[in-house]
Amino acid sequence: MNLYEVKALTKTYGENQGKVLALNNTSVNIEKGKFIVVLGPSGSGKSTLLNILGGMDIPTSGQVTFNQMDISKYNKKQLTKLRKEKIGFVFQSYNLLPSLTALENVEFSTEIAGLKREVAKEAMALVGLEERYNHFPSQLSGGEQQRISIARALAKKPEVLLCDEPTGALDSDTGVKILHVLKSINKGQGTSIIVITHSQDIAKIADVVIKMRNGEVVEVIENPTPISPD
Ligand code: ADP
Ligand code: ADP
Repeated sequence: MNLYEVKALTKTYGENQGKVLALNNTSVNIEKGKFIVVLGPSGSGKSTLLNILGGMDIPTSGQVTFNQMDISKYNKKQLTKLRKEKIGFVFQSYNLLPSLTALENVEFSTEIAGLKREVAKEAMALVGLEERYNHFPSQLSGGEQQRISIARALAKKPEVLLCDEPTGALDSDTGVKILHVLKSINKGQGTSIIVITHSQDIAKIADVVIKMRNGEVVEVIENPTPISPD
């Protein structure tokens, strides 16, 4: 079963001399329930692709389906609904609200999604942060802040978590721990996870690696290394 089907997708920014071709007539299928890594150098179009998959940006041409629904034809209102109900986002910069505690940051998300507050605590437990409910972001390490942002994304029980360089601001040990949190969510909850990175090491944890270059998917690698029994 495919979660996403991307066909002949093109995205340009700007016009005339200033025109940038961020995605160049590229196609790829993304299977449901997998841990997917999108790997490629800076400027290869990874963020642009993720933003379109997440309904944060619209294609210039081509088609993107999510669960067989053609989201490339969606209007702003439909995209907002899609983002709110089906998609969780995790960013390099955490994007937590500094004046709210860890738990309040997560509850903010459950409230928007119209879910019960208890769900926020469940999400905090899934990332191993039960002990940090009442801490403010400034009192937490980078790794802990990223766990909160993952809990916030998870709290609304999305079908897919889209993560743009989630370990980019962390040291490599902490980054590996965050990836294992994501992997345990993928295997435990069955949430599809798509992670953008330019790190070969991160790609090793994936079920599928999608390699990008110059705005195109150039290779799709299944099971890049044998899955470790952790
Ligand atoms: P990556 O995530 O692989 O670093 P991006 O998708 O961010 O690549 O960018 C692909 C290309 O599109 C780059 O040349 C980038 O500068 C350009 N680009 C991305 N977003 C914008 C934007 N909002 N306006 C103009 N150019 C953009
Ligand atoms: P990073 O590699 O640190 O994630 P990106 O290159 O992916 O940074 O860009 C981060 C954000 O800035 C993306 O949402 C992208 O759309 C936007 N962006 C990237 N390049 C440009 C650009 N040349 N002009 C405007 N916005 C851009």
